[in-house]
Amino acid sequence: MKYDLIIIGAGPAGVSSALYATSRGLKTLVLEQDENAGGTLKKVSNITHFTGFMTGETGSVFSKTLDEQLKQCGAKVLQKKVTAASLKGEDKEIICNEEKFLSKAVIIAAGTSQNTPDFEILEELKNKHLHNDARKYYKDYENVIVIGGSDGAAKEALFLSQNNKHVDLIIREEKLGAVPEFSQPILNSNNINIHTNSVISKVSGRKNIEEIKIKNTLTSEEEILNFNNCGIFYYIGSKPNTEVFKEVELNKGYITVDEKMKTNINGVYAVGDIRVKEVRQISTAVSDGALAAIDASKYINAKK
Ligand SMILES: Cc1cc2nc3c(=O)[nH]c(=O)nc-3n(C[C@H](O)[C@H](O)[C@H](O)COP(=O)(O)OP(=O)(O)OC[C@H]3O[C@@H](n4cnc5c(N)ncnc54)[C@H](O)[C@@H]3O)c2cc1C
Repeated sequence: MKYDLIIIGAGPAGVSSALYATSRGLKTLVLEQDENAGGTLKKVSNITHFTGFMTGETGSVFSKTLDEQLKQCGAKVLQKKVTAASLKGEDKEIICNEEKFLSKAVIIAAGTSQNTPDFEILEELKNKHLHNDARKYYKDYENVIVIGGSDGAAKEALFLSQNNKHVDLIIREEKLGAVPEFSQPILNSNNINIHTNSVISKVSGRKNIEEIKIKNTLTSEEEILNFNNCGIFYYIGSKPNTEVFKEVELNKGYITVDEKMKTNINGVYAVGDIRVKEVRQISTAVSDGALAAIDASKYINAKK
């Protein structure tokens, strides 16, 4: 069967694309590698800066809403990982291992994957005590290390510091770069200790993390922190999931688009965090999805 439109990824950008595409009567297939829609936000403690949502809305509740919306909108949704794509022809071919799906147009909404830290740590400790899902694991630890200085890292550090839990925040930069909404309460906090110009060089312990070596990147001096029960949470940037899209034009790994989200290939669009853009937020992701699906609908109807 040939679809009008295939959407790859069901984060906010992909779900928004699906809502606008189905409302325009497009026969739409959404391919999402995870069991549910939601993308990156599934692991975020609280959703902030999205109009219409009150402070305290959790990432997991927000993702469930996206999942429901997607199920209700009339698109066919399959849990499949896209492994290859042939996009240049009139018929777009999307490959998921042994299976092939065809469509007239494609929206790439595959987002980004979080970078993982590269310091020395035993595999067992890494698997048990290195996380980027604060809400799921924060209760497990007396002490918490957060790595990263972005808005996301700062927000999660604040979340983890609740109930007076001690947080060491490790940042490479010389000062915390997060927006004042997050940086001010961190600077005023008694239980968040910021280590600037710093990286973790080694984590050791047997079953639990017992010792963390922090290196000052300016002086090369090392500081040692000792713990009984410590978890490390990392938010150190991300990379775009573009490796399977060999034909689209990239800039520093991100997909180049015009103002209608069109890539260099006719009938192929890219939306959300995977595309070249200044601001990577839910608001810009859902806006991209709307613009792409509306233009894709015109493109498909012109071919009928
Ligand atoms: C810690 C943190 C906190 C944040 N907090 C906020 C916030 O409060 N407010 C806000 O506005 N923004 C926030 N953001 C940013 C926000 O998460 C992103 O801007 C948004 O998720 C981008 O949506 P997306 O749909 O482009 O990508 P994603 O959310 O990354 O979704 C991409 C989807 O594509 C799927 N996928 C990837 N590859 C494939 C493949 N090959 N085949 C099939 N499926 C695939 C993935 O499984 C995923 O479901 C935060 C980000 C982080 C890291």
